[in-house]
Parts: sequence; structure tokens; C-alpha cells
Amino acid sequence: MSDRSRRAADRRERPAPEAPSALPLPVLDSHVHLDIVAGSRSTEAGADAGRTAVGDRSEIVAGSRSTEAGADAGRTAAGDRSEIVAGSRSTEAGADAGRTAVGDRSEIVGSDGSGWSVEDQVAAARAVGVDRLVQVGVDVTSSQWSAALAERVPAVLATVALHPNEAPRLADLDAALAVIDSLAGQPRVRGIGETGLDFFRTGEDGLKAQEHSFRGHIEIAKRTGKALVIHDRDAHADVLRVLDDAGAPDTVVLHCFSGDVFFAAECVRRGYVLSFAGTVTFKNAPHLREAAALTPPSQLLVETDAPYLTPMPHRGAPNASYLIPLTVRGLAEAKGLPVEEVCQGISATGERVFGPW
Ligand SMILES: [Zn+2]
Ligand SMILES: [Zn+2]
Repeated sequence: MSDRSRRAADRRERPAPEAPSALPLPVLDSHVHLDIVAGSRSTEAGADAGRTAVGDRSEIVAGSRSTEAGADAGRTAAGDRSEIVAGSRSTEAGADAGRTAVGDRSEIVGSDGSGWSVEDQVAAARAVGVDRLVQVGVDVTSSQWSAALAERVPAVLATVALHPNEAPRLADLDAALAVIDSLAGQPRVRGIGETGLDFFRTGEDGLKAQEHSFRGHIEIAKRTGKALVIHDRDAHADVLRVLDDAGAPDTVVLHCFSGDVFFAAECVRRGYVLSFAGTVTFKNAPHLREAAALTPPSQLLVETDAPYLTPMPHRGAPNASYLIPLTVRGLAEAKGLPVEEVCQGISATGERVFGPW
């Protein structure tokens, strides 16, 4: 068993963190992957996982997360890749659940009971004041699922896209983009994302497809008037270059903001919205707290990116929307503002960016 596999296995044995105390005012989770938390990942992830399922189950985790996973977690300066492999209740479930993806995926839990239904995730979040969620698609299947879920669950709105690490792997990228385009018009699909650039996970040969995909999503966002939700990993300057060249949509969100204070200032100047994840609470991320400090509440969002990026003091444990209060309190501290004021700002920004729930 590799170190990475061992760490993933260790993590799965960790119990889910206890719920933090409730927030004084309601907020939203601007970026969550309920399907991955639930272990109902389908598409390539589920498929790959299913195929590997006969082998070491902890390897499945690594395999099924090659896109999204490495993605955001690696940004945590710490570079502790075991964060990514993350695990959570989902992982092994990904294998089994993925296969049943044609059914109602929100009901799916792992065959060993390790999964966590969407309804339970929503209820746990609501109990601590997180009463609205934005479910983010990362490929055709998860985008279709996200759009359907938002139609069915009032607390959930959806965004749809091909993840920047997914785009170069598609045999027919334009056909996949056409599906995203067809979903984009649905009334409860309120954002196009996560799209963008990821120079960490995608090699030289995939960059052209990645940028082509990013430009395609920008075009859809502008045409439909929906928010553009950007995944930017190690690609700050190029993200701005493409936005400048293509022309940015009216509403741009940088999800899991990972830049320094200078990049934050530039994004704020442009009117972009910065969404902070649990990484803002990490000891080794003072630059994120500085970035949050200079972001006005009207351009500030909070997210889990669950099941990844669990806030302190639970770093390394499975993440889910009910842990948002920890990140909100971290943001309030970084900004030197009362928690109530930060909650109010985040809610107002969320409703402006995504529209009313
Ligand atoms: Zn991302
Ligand atoms: Zn994400």
C-alpha cells in the first residue's frame, strides 16, 4: 500500500466531525459537490472507481478523484496530497454508487452504508444555519444530475460545466460543451462552472483543450447571463488573460480563492467575487486571510468545496456543508468584523450572484 493509499485509508476511518455551533444568521455554501460527498459520483470517476474496485479500495479514492480532487486541495500550500484523496464517506461508495447513477443519485449511499444522502447533507447544513447550497457540476453527467437536483430540492441551486481537468480528457469536447449549453438555460441552473484553468493537474498537451473549454464556458455565461464560476489553480495570470481577451461576463466568481493579496486586490478591482474555502482557516495560509481581509462583503462568498478542504480544526476529516460555520468564523476573524455582519454580507452577495433560491 502506498503512503497515499494509507493516508486515504486512515482518513476514511476518521469519524465525521461534530457539528459546530449554529451561525447567528443564515448563509449559503457557494460551492459543494453533494454527489461526491454522497459517494454517488458517476461518470469517469465512478467508472474508473468501479473498474478498480476489485483492487485495493483505497486506490479507488485516488483514481476517482484525479480531476476535481487534486485540483483544489493541492492549492492548500501545505501540499499535503492526502488532503485530497480525502476520502470522506464518499470514496469507496463512488465505485458502487456510480454504477447506479441512472437512478436517483441523491438517494444513493455507499453499499456499505458509508455514503450520506443529499437530503441528510441538506438537513445537517440547515441545522447550523447553512440553508442554501450551490451544487457544482464537473462533467456532463454530474452537471445533468446537478440541474435535476436543483429542480427537486428548494435549498439547492446548480452550476454546470466541464472541469478544466476534465476537458482535455474528452474525445469530443465540443459535443460535451453543447450539452452544458443546453443545461445552462434551465431556470435553477444559475452558474456556469466550475471551469477555468488548472496548470497543476493538466500537462502541456492538455492546455489547449483546457483553454478552449474555458472560452466556451465564458461564451455560454455571457449569452445566458449566468455567473461564471472559475477554478484557478496555479494559473492566476492566464485566467485574467483569457477573461480580458474573451471579455468577462457580468458576474465572475473565483471559487476556492487561492491567490495572494495582490491578486485578490486585482480581482476586487475588477468587480469579481472571491469565494473562500476551509483553506482560509489553515495555519499555513496567512495570505488567504489577508486576501479575505481586503475583500468587501459585497464581493465575498464562502464555500466548502466538500468533500475537500475541511476547515480547521478538522483538517484531514471528511468535509460537508454543515462545517461552513467554522470557515465563516475564520473569515470574520480575518476581517475583524462581527460574525453577523459577515453572514449578512455573504447572503446578500450569494443572492445577487446566483439569484434568489
Ligand atoms: Zn475547483
Ligand atoms: Zn469544486
